[in-house]
Order: sequence, then structure tokens, then C-alpha cells
Amino acid sequence: MPELRKDPIVGRWVIIAEDRANRPHDFEHAPIPARHKDRFCPFCEGNEHATPDEIAAYRGHQSQSNGQGWRVRVVANKFPALRIEGDPLEHRDGMYDAMQGVGAHEVIIESPQHLISTSDLSDEQLCEVLWVYRDRLQDLKNDSRLVYGMIFKNVGAEAGASLEHSHSQLIGTPIVPINVWEEMTGSLNFHNQHGRCIYCDMIEQELAFEERLVMDTPDFLAFCPFASRFPFETWVLPKIHSSHYEEIDNGQVEKFSGMFRRVIIKVEAALDRPAYNYIIHTAPFDTGPLKHYHWHIEVIPSLTKTAGFEWGTGFYINPMPPEKAAAFLREVSI
Ligand SMILES: [Zn+2]
Ligand SMILES: [Zn+2]
Ligand SMILES: [Zn+2]
Repeated sequence: MPELRKDPIVGRWVIIAEDRANRPHDFEHAPIPARHKDRFCPFCEGNEHATPDEIAAYRGHQSQSNGQGWRVRVVANKFPALRIEGDPLEHRDGMYDAMQGVGAHEVIIESPQHLISTSDLSDEQLCEVLWVYRDRLQDLKNDSRLVYGMIFKNVGAEAGASLEHSHSQLIGTPIVPINVWEEMTGSLNFHNQHGRCIYCDMIEQELAFEERLVMDTPDFLAFCPFASRFPFETWVLPKIHSSHYEEIDNGQVEKFSGMFRRVIIKVEAALDRPAYNYIIHTAPFDTGPLKHYHWHIEVIPSLTKTAGFEWGTGFYINPMPPEKAAAFLREVSI
């Protein structure tokens, strides 16, 4: 019997309609390549001239900006969705609102070697990637035109990656994205009613219930959410309440990188290296620490397609119950 489930934060309903045949390997997809390089890659070390100038980099003392010798490198996106010059002036056209497309669009090149997935990085490399996310958010916060920094990663063509070399992106926007707005509103309503953070409550319930847990460490928790939209959707949260990702400290980021990489390894092992996305949901720039909001990463393997019913209703149909997905992911030993 299919089940309708409601996401307690944003109120979105999903239909969990289990297909009995579903094993992880039943999802048809093109696995991301293990490691290969068949054409010129602008992100590989030695090809720095092929990217826009560096915005930031972690590199050896002797090395020069825009030259070799870096470990993580941040450059402007060559084909930006939003442009950094100008003012986000609002204008009205009758009933319509519009704004100039001002914002930041940066690419975080995660390794000088031609690696493909987060799982291919070492713990140390991923730690620096997660640290540079923090640095870039803290820097963009100083730009008064921007109110939000969205960090995301596409891995594999099916998840929208146009270049294979492991990289993530940061888009700084002059408005709060609607998905974040819905989470902010939902969690604020919950806090007003109960005086608690809904994400902290969720962590507590998932720890007690256990069946949706993927990985539990002293500082971070990974689980498949109750109202998962997608098969094997996995959320990772810090156990200590924190609304802003950029407030993470050195010790936390080290623990986080080790854990997060293992979560990705599990997803890849269970599903034969699917394309995937991850996104960081964090609070907007222009707020102080918030009691009601809790930053997290959502990992979404690309296994199903959004079609007419989803577009029309806003419901998602998920053929893989999160309890079953989590069990498969827990079984993967690393
Ligand atoms: Zn490359
Ligand atoms: Zn919390
Ligand atoms: Zn979220």
C-alpha cells in the first residue's frame, strides 16, 4: 500500500510507493567514470590559464597565484548564472517584479589531479574543500548586495555536471532562494509553537528510531529523511545546533570531512557510482545565529526523473522507502 508522507519542515507531501522489485541495482543509470581523462581539462593542474583568474586558493608558499602548486582553487564561473558587476536594482513591470541579475558564481576546483567524485578525494583534500566553502561564504557575506550563498555540487552528466573534474559551485544571490525560504519559514513556525529547533528534534527522533540512520558519529548524523523525495536521499547534519555553515570550526570540519566522505562512499558502493548532487542548506547572510534553523547537507543520487505528475502537483513519487534505503546504506562496510 503506498503511503503519503509529509515533510514536517516545509509541509511537502511525497508518495512512498514501493516497487517490490527495487534493489539498489535496479535503478537504471550511467555510472560515473572511475578515473579517466580523454580530453583537455581546464581544471587540471598546469591548465590554470584556461580558467578565469583565481578568487582564492590554498597553495604552497613558493607557488604563484594562477600558477601550479595549489591544492584547492576557486575561480569565477566562465558562464555565470549571475554577474558580480552592478546593483541588484528592483523594477516593476505592472504586476511583475524583476531585478538585475547580480550575484557571485564561483567554481571550487577540489583537486589539482583529475579526480571525479568526492569519494576520490582524500580526507585531507575534502577537509580543505569544506574549509574553503566556509572562507568563501564569510567573504561573500561582506558584499552587502548579497543575502545568500548556495553551495552545491553536481557529479556525473545525469546530475548536470558539464565537466568531469571534481568541483563544486557557489552562487551568491541578492534574494533568499525559495527552497531555503520554505525551510526558514517552516522551522520558524515550529520554533514559535514548540520553542525548539525542528532539526534538533528530528535528530533526536531518528536516533531513537534507528531505522533511517545511515551513519552516526559523535558530532554528525546522516539519515534518509522520513519524507524522502528521491530514492537514497540522505541528509547530513551537525548534532550541535548551528544555523550557519560558515561558523564551523577547524576541529568540526575535520570530523565532518571524514564522515561525509564515508557517506558518499556508501551511496556510491550501494548504487554503483550513480551521478549525484549535494547541496548545503544554511541560513541567509543577513541574520545572526538563529535558534530555529539548522544547517545541513542534502545528498541526492540521480536515479529517478521528475515528470508530469511531479511538475503538476509538487508531490514526488519515491519508489524506495527511506527505511529500506538506509538499511542498504548501513550494510555497506567501508
Ligand atoms: Zn581535470
Ligand atoms: Zn537545531
Ligand atoms: Zn534543506
